[in-house]
Amino acid sequence: MVATIRYEDIVKVPKALLHDHLDGGLRPATIVELAAEVGHELPTTDPEALGRWFVESADSGSLVRYLETFAHTVAVMQTAPALRRVARECAWDLATDGVVYAEVRFAPEQHLERNLTLDEAVEAVVAGFTEGAALAAEAGHPIRVGTLLTAMRHAARSQEIAELAVRHRDAGVVGFDIAGAEAGFPPTRHLDAFEYLQRENFHFTIHAGEAFGLPSIWQAIQWCGADRLGHGVRIVDDITRGGDGPTLGRLSAYVRDKRIPLELCPSSNVQTGAAPSIAEHPIGLLRDLRFRVTVNTDNRLMSGTSVSREMALLVEAFGYGWKELQWFTINAMKSAFIPFDERLAIIDEVIKPAYAKLLD
Ligand SMILES: [Zn+2]
Repeated sequence: MVATIRYEDIVKVPKALLHDHLDGGLRPATIVELAAEVGHELPTTDPEALGRWFVESADSGSLVRYLETFAHTVAVMQTAPALRRVARECAWDLATDGVVYAEVRFAPEQHLERNLTLDEAVEAVVAGFTEGAALAAEAGHPIRVGTLLTAMRHAARSQEIAELAVRHRDAGVVGFDIAGAEAGFPPTRHLDAFEYLQRENFHFTIHAGEAFGLPSIWQAIQWCGADRLGHGVRIVDDITRGGDGPTLGRLSAYVRDKRIPLELCPSSNVQTGAAPSIAEHPIGLLRDLRFRVTVNTDNRLMSGTSVSREMALLVEAFGYGWKELQWFTINAMKSAFIPFDERLAIIDEVIKPAYAKLLD
């Protein structure tokens, strides 16, 4: 018996999200309003057409062009009220999609064009998440949102951003990340920041193995000490598929043995060319081999997506049922950067009871 899982039902079950960019998840209508306030010129001021423009530009198949779409979102996120609004709407949008736990990341260094300080940018975003989560809880959609601070890999501020993250660790910031075009900017450029974070017993993930291959993943784990891999999808390059089934190389075996979480983002990976299609996305193989796979959105605006939609696409492509969706969700929750007892509470009290009703 194959039960068909409907999108509306996926929305209703609790989900956890580890990889989502604040500047990649704005509502088109909000961009139009904020752009008018600051006099920023957009490709179009019709929210629907603007939403389509983002998806089409991101569909080009190049990570570099994909990243260009962020010039518009970042331009309208340069004041504390704008950051706060975008974060508040983000928390609300995730909560109403059934996400009960989310880690949303942003790069404070990109929001200083109108004289905000790094600390003010962080405070505005955290305040927005808190407000959005409170509104969503009132409406019956409880969510917890943790903030990850991203440093840009081509820039030289990673140590400063790492210190910023640690400074705000008891006020909503749960981890650190580096992002931006991978080629030519290996994570080892930021070794000082990662060593500092390790000495502070702080958590971090690194965008690695998206556009660039195994050396980037290897550096992120074995040089930098990443807790998780942002994407990490190219780990499949270290898996040989032969007649006797898949054989893992030393690096992929290490990633699996150590249960290093992979923050996979199916639609985004297809858009940037890191995977040929959803049906051929390595997530199928990686799940079969029981890597610590999680399902993420990356940039909801640029991919026109949500966590529920990503899951629905996987259901369609791989025939997954509630069992697999629960597995992805628990994997994500186990890999979260909040304390162990708090992760466990969400798994035992929120996730498992909801799926148990469906798995009967
Ligand atoms: Zn990302």
